[in-house]
Amino acid sequence: MKAVSDIGVIGIAVMGENLILNMESKGFHVSAFNRTVDKVENFVAGRAKGKNIYGAHSLEDFVASLKSPRKVMLMVKAGKPVDAFIDLLVPLLSPGDIIIDGGNSHFPDTERRVKYVESKGLLFIGTGVSGGEEGALLGPSIMPGGSKAAWPAVKPIFQGIAAKVDDGSPCCDWVGDGGAGHFVKMVHNGIEYGDMQLINEVYQIMKDVLKMSADEMHQVFKEWNEGELDSYLIEITRDILAFRDEDGQPLVDKILDTAMQKGTGKWTGTVALELGIPLTLITESVFSRCLSALKDERVAASKILSGPTPSFSGDKQAMLNDLRDALYAAKVVSYAQGYQMMKAAAAEYGWNLNYGAIALMWRGGCIIRSKFLGNIKEAFDKNPDLANLLLDPFFAEKMIAHQAGWRRVIAAAVMDGIPTPCLSAGLNFYDGYRTERLPANLLQAQRDYFGAHTYERIDKPRGQFFHTNWTGRG
Ligand code: NAP
Repeated sequence: MKAVSDIGVIGIAVMGENLILNMESKGFHVSAFNRTVDKVENFVAGRAKGKNIYGAHSLEDFVASLKSPRKVMLMVKAGKPVDAFIDLLVPLLSPGDIIIDGGNSHFPDTERRVKYVESKGLLFIGTGVSGGEEGALLGPSIMPGGSKAAWPAVKPIFQGIAAKVDDGSPCCDWVGDGGAGHFVKMVHNGIEYGDMQLINEVYQIMKDVLKMSADEMHQVFKEWNEGELDSYLIEITRDILAFRDEDGQPLVDKILDTAMQKGTGKWTGTVALELGIPLTLITESVFSRCLSALKDERVAASKILSGPTPSFSGDKQAMLNDLRDALYAAKVVSYAQGYQMMKAAAAEYGWNLNYGAIALMWRGGCIIRSKFLGNIKEAFDKNPDLANLLLDPFFAEKMIAHQAGWRRVIAAAVMDGIPTPCLSAGLNFYDGYRTERLPANLLQAQRDYFGAHTYERIDKPRGQFFHTNWTGRG
């Protein structure tokens, strides 16, 4: 077999197949392989027909078809299948060859795999790929990390197939060492959970308090998508609200209200707790999905536990403006928390993350793509050491301008008994973050009272610890 291909992809499923076609359309020769070899046959005879795509019949044949340094991208189910393929590939590859895992792997697995593969004289990249089926085919957001020595060989292919923003910049750049790429993809997925839940809370207020029809809501989301909220998720919400079932009724009204999840949002919350970062909004969005899944319990509880009946008699347009402002402000908090978590991880794992580049990677191609990420990129380009996004002058001004509406929305939701876990978590963080003196003085006193855990004093230098005998007992 002559080495003809620039890259090889293992895993002919939704993502792998579309990535291969994307690569080929950008002028690269691609080899394809799959555990179930029939799928290679079907692909070569179908969508890959007549293209510069080589369907390999064995792993040996696949490896032999790749130009040196060989680049093998795994697009298989995350977990054991990735390790299984690494074990099969290692003996077949040569020093300097590159294994890339483009699946949704958890970053500690990627940290481990980078070390293992490098110990075999090879290079390893763990990369987040976002944008689903369409993104994979037309231009995903790609977040690679791992063995930096592998980047020059992979860069032209990845940046060639990635989504591009208006000025032509690719939504792909080197993220950092070890598991940094998959970490950033994990945070991306957490942010996606938060953004979706925020839209859902606003939707419920429109529906249950303002009593708006799907058509009316469609119009509002259409308008919002033309302003500062311009984003993929607002755009698809607009289209979902306009979608009719066969009987002419809005399909969204007929969908069961139990959310499913694959686990990447849960990882984000768990890691935030481990790192000690108050990632409250995203974590609430994971819990919101968990609560929605308790459908039977909620139905039973709705018959026992009473609450207010939502009603509205104010200015509807003013409330819609408040909802728009609340959504924007809470979203800023969610991204600020996500960036805080990336900063903490960078310090913990020794990664040198480029925060502006990360915003650019998310600016196009992926589910959270939005106009607003352009502003985040500008904030970190202006000040790469920005302690918190909320402190950037552009966003600080926005928060100040939007907070009145945000507070009115939450107050109204509380009085009407509408749950707003993420809108409220965002505001609670905002108010906590801007509060010079929180009640943790009392908390420290309580800890010292029952556990002699000691406390510091505001009238003494930091680092001096005191204990008080609170009860006077010996
Ligand atoms: P998938 O359904 O997650 O996985 C299917 C592929 O994995 C097939 O090639 C399958 O081979 C292979 N596979 C499964 N179990 C295996 C095993 N034990 N040993 C070897 N191979 C095994 O495919 P996908 O949806 O295209 O996703 C690929 C990766 O991208 C996943 O990590 C996914 O989480 C991630 N991802 C998916 C999306 C999306 O929108 N779908 C978006 C971003 C990222 P066989 O054909 O032989 O079963």
